Amino acid sequence: MSEYELVCGLEIHAELLCEEKIFCACPSGFGGEPNTRICPVCTGQPGAMPRLNPEAVRLGLRAALALGCEINEVSFFDRKNYFYPDLPKGYQITQYERPFCFGGRVTLDSGRGIRIERIHLEEDAGKLTAADGCTLIDYNRAGVPLIEIVTAPDMRSGAEAAELIDHVRLALKYAGVSDCRMQEGSLRFDVNLSARKRGEVGLGTRTEIKNMNSVSFMLKAVEYEFRRQCSLLERGESIRRETLRYDERRNITQTMRVKESESDYRFFREPDLRPLVITSDMVERVRRELPELPESRVKRWRAAGLSAQDARLLAAHRACADFFDESARGGHEKSAAKLILGTVFSLFSNESELEGFELSITPVQLSELCRLLDSGRISMGKSKETLLRMLEGSCSCMELLTEKDFEGIEDSELRLICANAAREHQAAVRDYRAGKEKAIMPLVGRVMRQTEGRADAARVKQLLKETIEEG
Ligand code: ZN
Ligand code: MN
Repeated sequence: MSEYELVCGLEIHAELLCEEKIFCACPSGFGGEPNTRICPVCTGQPGAMPRLNPEAVRLGLRAALALGCEINEVSFFDRKNYFYPDLPKGYQITQYERPFCFGGRVTLDSGRGIRIERIHLEEDAGKLTAADGCTLIDYNRAGVPLIEIVTAPDMRSGAEAAELIDHVRLALKYAGVSDCRMQEGSLRFDVNLSARKRGEVGLGTRTEIKNMNSVSFMLKAVEYEFRRQCSLLERGESIRRETLRYDERRNITQTMRVKESESDYRFFREPDLRPLVITSDMVERVRRELPELPESRVKRWRAAGLSAQDARLLAAHRACADFFDESARGGHEKSAAKLILGTVFSLFSNESELEGFELSITPVQLSELCRLLDSGRISMGKSKETLLRMLEGSCSCMELLTEKDFEGIEDSELRLICANAAREHQAAVRDYRAGKEKAIMPLVGRVMRQTEGRADAARVKQLLKETIEEG
């Protein structure tokens, strides 16, 4: 099997965080009693006219910019015709010939670039549920605004596909485009994959695994399907181009349908919608709305001395990243990271709690604690203990710390005291300069007495040496 390599691409569908559906004013949120959020437009009644929701365009644009794509000033909507009960119109309105967005690129941790070929806007279909001997249909989801992100077949392993999904998911969440809840189906993906002999350049026949909403099942499905294709090729058989479903329980892929060709969909321009025009002004306006994205934050934090792993953990949820940024302001990245990852994180029991990242203290209150820690006035142990009490009582550190908690003394203050001591004991300074190392000890003793033992003796000695050598 090792003589074959995996070639894989993704089509990622994300539901947009719009209040209304893409072509009508029905509510588009998740859930609701079945078939209560519907109207003549999203159920395809004769004569009902679609009207494009500008919010969907704005969010699509955000996604495109967050993924480094370019924008087509003019794009079109098309009808993708198929007969299936999940879309009562008999066709899906999508963008086929000319999507609003093309040409992005995502860089994986390894440095490998994955091309994004296009992103287009389209409508979601209804939801079918198999029940006792029949199929139930809920059209609440029909017409929910979607973007579809299509990558080039640039990934070479399931792990790379997983990393790409992770990257896209985080970017969309930061940009406020989609909540990307895989378990609710607001982020789903199709994986297309083929196998070829290592060193070959052309692409083999691909199969497509449809509608996955779990990264761990995707990894299993890809592994199974790659193995299946390899063994067929090894036996000299050919791969059939087909659409597959992954059976989670049995861990196999199954044929859904032998792949229809594009012409089966009889695509044609949607006559009821005007061309979509996106001006460069609109693009710039949306660009200004975007927050700083995770990748750029990770880079900035690493430059401030954080490890790659710590930076990634902090960037994994936008609310946490924002809190960290505010509390680290003024050069306290390292101590803020230690306190958040080492103490605050332990209070959250799962990912969804981390996602909200609601704390009972403000970033400014954490920043105050970081300042005390960084200036050496309190120890790491004391600061962790204080932080826990702050979170419990939702109060600032100054309300909790007492005089005796300040075991340290600020460097700038200590430096002044040392300079004074040197000025007042010129004889000792002369002896030290003449080479009598020990002459400095009475000065250290004096500073220690003056600061009532709050200062660290080694630090005092160091500062005294610096003062004398500079003076
Ligand atoms: Zn509707
Ligand atoms: Mn699609």
